[in-house]
Amino acid sequence: MHVHRTPGGPETGPAARSGGLAEVERLLAGRDVAVLSGAGLSTESGIPDYRGATGSLRRQTPMTYQEFVASEQGRRRYWARSHVGWQAIARAEPNAGHRAVEGLRRSGYVSAVITQNVDGLHRAAGTLGAVELHGGLDRVVCLDCGRSSSRADLDRRLHALNGTLVVPDAALNPDGDVQLPGALVEAFRIAPCEACGGVLKPDVVFFGESVPKPRVQHCYDLVDAARALLVLGSSLTVMSGLRFVRRAARGGKPVAIVNQGATRGDEYATTTLALPLGATLTTLLEQLTAP
Ligand SMILES: [Zn+2]
Repeated sequence: MHVHRTPGGPETGPAARSGGLAEVERLLAGRDVAVLSGAGLSTESGIPDYRGATGSLRRQTPMTYQEFVASEQGRRRYWARSHVGWQAIARAEPNAGHRAVEGLRRSGYVSAVITQNVDGLHRAAGTLGAVELHGGLDRVVCLDCGRSSSRADLDRRLHALNGTLVVPDAALNPDGDVQLPGALVEAFRIAPCEACGGVLKPDVVFFGESVPKPRVQHCYDLVDAARALLVLGSSLTVMSGLRFVRRAARGGKPVAIVNQGATRGDEYATTTLALPLGATLTTLLEQLTAP
């Protein structure tokens, strides 16, 4: 059961913590807060959360690294679906939440931004140093020669090979995946590495794959250097994000979680809030930077 807590609301269970927007504002006012963001921050940009009301995780198991590497058919399915999904991801723009996070960073309240999102929207909002824990859909790597190239280039090549696939009402996932009819997948032509003819993979961490160790360590360092951790729009279902919440809590640091619904990190949180992120973060920024 999901327990929603709102500012000023009653304590609603053993896991309830002191809540309220004022608590999050106090946390930020102390400056040097690390942010960990998830899919919930991008829903207001039109990218559905996996587990939100319109999320489609339950209808389709995501591609695993093992299947992608082992199976040409798996890669064809991935790239066909991603070819359609990328059009929506590439069109998406940062929302008020991303912009407020960047405002909080520029004002010194936020010291670091770590995101589980692969949509590039923190960077699009100006947070160039955001650490993309799970990589980014805007880059492609060759599994054979290691060459990195841009998704925009690959997108042009895939369009030349396949045209533009029009799929009405395609259900988009935050990893750029959409559901496609089998016939479209069967007919799809994938593009090899231009340098070596090898296998191209998006520069994102698939299910069944680990986040590179140096990237994890960098994030631990950012959390260790911060005074507190603020989680925005993540249910912390996967360990790759949850471990930073545990790290902060073990270090005796306050952890605030703003998310629609319960999270796996609630037991480590000093504050939990269920509020819309765009409006909430904008309010926090305005209050903190008011003359
Ligand atoms: Zn190559």
